[in-house]
Amino acid sequence: MKIVVLGFDGASPKLIDKWINNLPTFKAFKEKGIFGYTIPPVPAQTPVAWTTFMTGKNPGNHGIFSFAMRKKGTYERRIATPKTLEAKTLFQILNESEKKVGVINVPMCGIQKVQGFIAPGFLSKNEGVFFPEEIREKIRLKFDVNKILGDLKTETLGRVKEDPDLFFEEVNHITDEMAEIALYLLQKEDWDLFMTVFMGTDRIQHFFWKYVDQTHSNYEKNKYSQLVRDFYIKMDKITESFLNSVDEDVITIVVSDHGFCPVEKEVVVNNYLEEIGLVKTKNGKIDLEQSKAVSYGYGDVWLNVKGREPFGLIKPGKQYEEVRKEIADKLMLTKINGQVPFKDIWKREDIYTGKYLSVAPDLLIIFKKGWQAARNPEIMEKNELKRYVKKNPMWSGGHDGTHDPVDVLGVICSLDLELEEKKEIRIPLKDLAPTILSLMDVAIPRDMEGEPFKLHFRKDRST
Ligand SMILES: [Zn+2]
Repeated sequence: MKIVVLGFDGASPKLIDKWINNLPTFKAFKEKGIFGYTIPPVPAQTPVAWTTFMTGKNPGNHGIFSFAMRKKGTYERRIATPKTLEAKTLFQILNESEKKVGVINVPMCGIQKVQGFIAPGFLSKNEGVFFPEEIREKIRLKFDVNKILGDLKTETLGRVKEDPDLFFEEVNHITDEMAEIALYLLQKEDWDLFMTVFMGTDRIQHFFWKYVDQTHSNYEKNKYSQLVRDFYIKMDKITESFLNSVDEDVITIVVSDHGFCPVEKEVVVNNYLEEIGLVKTKNGKIDLEQSKAVSYGYGDVWLNVKGREPFGLIKPGKQYEEVRKEIADKLMLTKINGQVPFKDIWKREDIYTGKYLSVAPDLLIIFKKGWQAARNPEIMEKNELKRYVKKNPMWSGGHDGTHDPVDVLGVICSLDLELEEKKEIRIPLKDLAPTILSLMDVAIPRDMEGEPFKLHFRKDRST
């Protein structure tokens, strides 16, 4: 069995539902095939989520807990890259079973020695460059480009507020170009599993969510609402072209790594840790050695533990537990303008298992819808609310800082699959790799944690 996985980063089941009458392909998924939810890991950040998808493991066993993590035994803040990935991917596992793969722009997927071809995705230093050379040459000859642009330029992302039209122009252009190249390789090359991830949905929604989600407190309908909808129509058309380009005995699955929820206010976690006496500063900067607990960005909290960090202040065991409880108790009492921003505080061992548990953040702060943690950990001055809140963050939609997975579910759909029994589909992302292996009749490695979801091939798409 051959499989095509079409990924749309952050594609939201809520928006697909909202515009279903303009999305004939997705409508057909709903009516004839399957249409359900993916449950992202915690945190539902792109690198963590796609790694969970690729490895069939929870972060405790693949080692990617966030965009930015504390490097073991140091205070260094380290950005996740494919090099920091500690587990085998679906693509490597398939190769070991003599299956060929074609992988384009999957976040956190770097160059891997594969049978087939690969263009690394987001967070890889070789983003967009095809391997092997022979494929790169083919693309150069046919499309006159040296690599694919899998994502928007950092410059354009930084100037969305000043130039939203340029942003849409660019995201539409790179999406069209990537779709064209991917379709070409889909038709011309030999593969057993073909996978490509489009980033546009994620980028658009971070900036323009308030124009499409009526539950956002700053909801406003304008031309951008239309442009976001048009992008979903593009996604529908790309999906249709993929379906039309493969034989009827190929299974095509559309999937997103997470969805989105409104972001209205952004909290700087380190300020609240400073307020309860745990973060210490020197000349306005966080003093990592003197602080008992700090956040490295998003909603993570790392304790400074004796024997674990170079200048540990907290004794492991009883004192460690007391500090974690103190943080949870005090933060849950925090009110900002009468509102409680935090939904819950989770201990690492409550959400992760495995050999990398010891390098996970000690706590994760889960935010209510409408709130999120600032991405960067820098301390800030109190603002007019007398609290440490960025009132009008650059983003109006989010998923990553840090939310309860049920608030940011992704989507999974297919016209070529059916369920063994009729029920709502909610698949944890880590179950997708074993599901794909099982559909392809490839043995699931014993250390893969996910369970194959009970889906069957549906022969006739027209019914
Ligand atoms: Zn994502």
